[in-house]
Amino acid sequence: MCTTCGCGHDHAHGHSHEGGHAHEHGHEHGHGHGHGHGHGEDDAGRVVLLERAILDKNDRVAERNRGFFRGRGVAAFNLVSSPGAGKTAVLERTIRELDGQIPIAVIEGDQATENDAARIRAAGARAVQVNTGTGCHLDAEMVWSELDGLDLAPGSLLMIENVGNLVCPALFDLGERAKVLVGSVTEGDDKPIKYPHMFRASRLMLLNKVDLLPHVDFDVARFVEHARSVNPEIEVLEISARDGTGFDAWLRWLRDESADRFETNPSYGG
Ligand code: MG
Repeated sequence: MCTTCGCGHDHAHGHSHEGGHAHEHGHEHGHGHGHGHGHGEDDAGRVVLLERAILDKNDRVAERNRGFFRGRGVAAFNLVSSPGAGKTAVLERTIRELDGQIPIAVIEGDQATENDAARIRAAGARAVQVNTGTGCHLDAEMVWSELDGLDLAPGSLLMIENVGNLVCPALFDLGERAKVLVGSVTEGDDKPIKYPHMFRASRLMLLNKVDLLPHVDFDVARFVEHARSVNPEIEVLEISARDGTGFDAWLRWLRDESADRFETNPSYGG
C-alpha cells in the first residue's frame, strides 16, 4: 500500500469549501522510517505492522462515517478508476440527468487543483475538493473532516470521487455502501487482471466511453471475462458519459442501491 508506493509521507491535505476559500492544513501521519542498514527483515516487519495499524485506524473512522450516513439517510458511493477514465464526466451527467430528483453532493479527491469541484458545481451539485498533495488516495478521516462543511440533506446521495489510482484506494474503506469502478475502452482490456484488488473490491463497474468502441482495439467480452475472473459477483454496465448510453441502467442501479437509505432512521421520511 502507500508505505510501499511512498505516497503517504507527511502529506498535507488542503481542501476548500463551496465558497471557494481554500485552506491548507497538514497532517503528520507519523510514518517513521527505519532506514537502518542491515536490518532489512526488521524494517519489512515494521512496515507490515505500520500498514496494518493505518488500515485498522482507517476502518474505525470508516465505521464512524457509515454511522453518520445511516443516521442521516445518506447513501455514499466511492468512485474509483485510473486517471482519465471519466469519473468526473460520469458524475456531471449523473447530476444533470437526476435533475434535482435526489439531492446529491460530491467530495472530489485529487492531488491538486479545484478543477473537478468546479465542474461538479457547474453541473448543479454541492461539492468540496480535497487535495491530497503527494497522497494517492482518500482516507476515511479526510471524508469525515468534510462532512460538516457539506451539510448533507437527509436522503442525499454522496458521491466520493477518489484520486485516480487503481491501487491504493482499493484498501481504504471510506464508509461507502459500495465502490463503483469506472473503466474505459481507451484502457487495456487486461486491466482487471493487472489490478485485481480494485476489481475485487468493487460492486459495480461502469465501462465508460463505449461510444469510442469503433475507433479502439478493445474487446468488451474479454474485459468482462477478466473482471469476472477476479470478482465473479461484479456487475457491469456499459455507458458513455458523452452520449448518455447506459445511463438509464446506471441511474436505476443508483436508485435501487440507495432505496433503503431512510429505513434505519424513520424520522426522515422518504
Ligand atoms: Mg476527476
